[in-house]
Amino acid sequence: MVAVCTTLSLPPRSVQPLSAAAPQAVGVPSNGLDVLEVRPTFFVIAGAGANVAVQVGDDGVVVVDAGSAASAPDVLAAIKRISPKPIRYVIDTGPDADHVGGNEALSKAGEKLFAGGIGGGAPNAADAVAPILSAEGVLRHMATSPAGGWPTEVFHYSRKSMYLNAEAIEVLHQPAAHTDSDVVAFFRRSDVVVAGDVLDTRQFPVIDVERGGSIQGEIAALNRLVDLAVPSVPVVTREAGTIVVPGHGHLFDQYDVVEYRDMVTIIRDRVRDLMKAGRSIAEVKAAQPAKGYVGRYGERNGNQGGGWTTDRFIEAIYRSLAKEKP
Ligand SMILES: [Zn+2]
Repeated sequence: MVAVCTTLSLPPRSVQPLSAAAPQAVGVPSNGLDVLEVRPTFFVIAGAGANVAVQVGDDGVVVVDAGSAASAPDVLAAIKRISPKPIRYVIDTGPDADHVGGNEALSKAGEKLFAGGIGGGAPNAADAVAPILSAEGVLRHMATSPAGGWPTEVFHYSRKSMYLNAEAIEVLHQPAAHTDSDVVAFFRRSDVVVAGDVLDTRQFPVIDVERGGSIQGEIAALNRLVDLAVPSVPVVTREAGTIVVPGHGHLFDQYDVVEYRDMVTIIRDRVRDLMKAGRSIAEVKAAQPAKGYVGRYGERNGNQGGGWTTDRFIEAIYRSLAKEKP
């Protein structure tokens, strides 16, 4: 999706942060990018197409989503200001250009762990870049784009795990959600989940049926986020809890994800009921199943990215459900 630049911020209902865990802006925003420290070793760069997540520590830098190709030089500069260590991994949450466009530049600026091998052999060209990790489908969807930005490590199974910078990182495949190759990246010690395009806080989630997305998988992915995140209970005034970084838009906490999941589920149920009553796709759209949510998530709120309209969202739900067995 083509994205508009958005200012990253706390959820709208958030009050003055009280805890050390609360996100804060760091440095001076430059070149249209905002850098937010969400944890002492975890940062989010906004304004680069998609949100770019940056985990730092002794091992180096782990980046989740590279942003757009045009933003790559600015993203690299921002990462260098956060940490002098090399980029060790670039993880793609999905195949869209605003997430993978910066792959090549960030990878080339990075450096593989154990360059030259653990035994200290001679370094080679493959060591002079950071691996790009994704679900297998990202590589398939990128087949027509330049090879330099292709993922170099892909996985077919449900979970890829790593342990870097003193924390467990789980990369969890969400089949058939936004596309067939979405992942969410859970940083267990930082307590941050990077959701990618299964969560877009500016609008209804983009469901790309052509590339294997579906409403059922989308709701499953949102449920996964709800399960991974822990809200700030019992001390709700702390504004703490797990932070969920969406592909686009502002940071969410668990309650926000629950609300978003419920919104998507309610609209899915309305479309399903209309289909059960024998309505055509045109009749379903005319019945306005997204009523009550269009003001916040529809195109009328003016913060759309990529022309994703309410009608296109309803169509994607309709087409997903039409594929279901009766
Ligand atoms: Zn996106």
